[in-house]
Amino acid sequence: MASAMDFDGFVEAMECPVCNELYNDPRVLPCGHSCCFTCIEAWRRSRQPEVQRLPCPLCRQDFTMPSELPKNFFVVNFLEKMKEHVGKYISALTANWQCV
Ligand SMILES: [Zn+2]
Ligand SMILES: [Zn+2]
Repeated sequence: MASAMDFDGFVEAMECPVCNELYNDPRVLPCGHSCCFTCIEAWRRSRQPEVQRLPCPLCRQDFTMPSELPKNFFVVNFLEKMKEHVGKYISALTANWQCV
């Protein structure tokens, strides 16, 4: 199961450190950390919604919330590839299961 473990390592790298789920619309913060758009929005709302300045949920470095946070295209592309991979894997599993 070495390949599966390698794959798990990749999956872990693609998890948002805030919600511990796979990134959902990953955004890059000015400090270089990434988290889901929904996570950063929830984080912002949990603070004072009127204040555009907030600390990074990971390193606490203050930044001003831009109107549009840049997407983490590396993660987006990787997740797309992974979904293809997982899709194939699942259909292979399902095919086997139907054979048995
Ligand atoms: Zn998240
Ligand atoms: Zn940070």
